[in-house]
Amino acid sequence: MDSYTLRSKPIPFNTDFDVIVVGGGPAGCTAAAAAAREGARTLLIEATGSLGGMGTSGLVPAWCPFSDKQKIVYRGLAEKVFETLKAQMPHVRPDALDWVPIEPEKLKRVYDDLVTEAGASVLFLTTLADVERDEDGNVTAIVVLNKGGLQAFRANVYVDCTGDGDVAAWAGAEYEKGDETTGELQPATHCFVLGNVDDYAYLNGPKLHAENPDSPIHEAFRSGDYPGIPDTHLCNNQIAPQAVGFNAGHLWGVDNTDTFTVSQAMMEGRRMAEAYRDMLADVHPAAFGNAFVMSTGTLIGTRESRRIIGDYILTAEDYIERRSFTDEICRNSYFLDIHGNKKEQQSGTGSSLAITLYGPGESHGIPYRCLTPKGLRNVLVAGRSISCDRQVLGSVRVMPVCLAMGEAAGLAAALASKQAESDVHAVDIAELRRRLKEEGAYLPDAAVESEVHAGE
Ligand SMILES: Cc1cc2nc3c(=O)[nH]c(=O)nc-3n(C[C@H](O)[C@H](O)[C@H](O)COP(=O)(O)OP(=O)(O)OC[C@H]3O[C@@H](n4cnc5c(N)ncnc54)[C@H](O)[C@@H]3O)c2cc1C
Repeated sequence: MDSYTLRSKPIPFNTDFDVIVVGGGPAGCTAAAAAAREGARTLLIEATGSLGGMGTSGLVPAWCPFSDKQKIVYRGLAEKVFETLKAQMPHVRPDALDWVPIEPEKLKRVYDDLVTEAGASVLFLTTLADVERDEDGNVTAIVVLNKGGLQAFRANVYVDCTGDGDVAAWAGAEYEKGDETTGELQPATHCFVLGNVDDYAYLNGPKLHAENPDSPIHEAFRSGDYPGIPDTHLCNNQIAPQAVGFNAGHLWGVDNTDTFTVSQAMMEGRRMAEAYRDMLADVHPAAFGNAFVMSTGTLIGTRESRRIIGDYILTAEDYIERRSFTDEICRNSYFLDIHGNKKEQQSGTGSSLAITLYGPGESHGIPYRCLTPKGLRNVLVAGRSISCDRQVLGSVRVMPVCLAMGEAAGLAAALASKQAESDVHAVDIAELRRRLKEEGAYLPDAAVESEVHAGE
């Protein structure tokens, strides 16, 4: 590709903040709230006009399980977000912990309150444009773009919650993306909501979820009558009266760091949403005969993107061994949920590779070192782009654990920002874990005492 050299010119420069969080998804919201709660002057920068990322702008219709089938694993701010939203959804049982539906407009407001009540400032409709760093691995400024033009910000510590590792990668951190040899990524899904659904017929009719072998999606796909439906992947949840959220079908070849592929996928996803509506109106007319596509995501549903290389790379083996770590900042019990390539998905044998190993009460730890990019002094990463291998990403990418990681990253950022060098690698782990526990985090001492894998 040809290159173009920018003309050098001064732009506004803001140094008002100790901690800047980029990306306001689940990880970014708890990161900003935790940093501000710790007394850091905190700014949260978000490209869209609302907080919540995939869970709001992406229309993901449900929370992955909050429990390990015995107790809540993701506590602290994660539990607060979860319970606050649930309390506003009268059709959800108050004791439900797993696969609880999300009403996205309500969740946006839960995050607005979480972040602002903690004292963080929010800058919407603003996207990262560039990252400046020095030779010692310090990010010296970030440049952002919004309707005011380009603007630079300098903070002591930056938390990258973009889900794609934009801050860390643009600062020069090493990363991996997709399959080691082919570069293939897990497919995307463009989630959507159908409105004017007949609630009684929906709730009492056939279970549409692809896991149900009798779901009409299997016959509909096999029949070939619905060419607009790419495979049998279909999750659905009643998110509000007469409104059902869908996470259905796959889009391959979508790379969230290549906006041309995303643009194409969004148009294809909108077309697909209509195809699902038409199919459902045929196969279950009592529920969907009068339904319409009420909305599609303003973000494409990205399952896989950059994985920033940190001081430790969490592996599938760590997951299988249920490892604990002396520096763990949260625990995770979600299964390995890996969506396969086109051939696998279209074989009709299943919608995804769901490797469920854990029994009730089992989980593994996530070390703080997965959040600290190698070679960068004042940057933390939380959420989908932490340091891990491709397989375990299938587990640690989902929202409950992203919320928990975000809180730890925000707290660590605030602690680092008070130190002379703002070195995130030098954060006092004992203090970090003490504060997380004080705020309600699930960090069982027994797990660390009996740890299989010594901190390294
Ligand atoms: C189709 C699909 C279905 C899923 N189903 C579930 C489910 O049922 N339950 C569940 O719990 N999880 C589910 N997940 C996983 C989960 O939703 C995401 O992995 C999770 O939201 C990741 O959180 P995050 O904070 O890392 O990133 P995101 O939620 O992606 O948020 C990142 C935020 O950063 C912003 N941003 C990105 N780049 C920039 C930039 N350069 N400048 C400024 N802002 C930026 C984005 O606009 C976005 O708001 C699903 C994911 C997908 C794709």
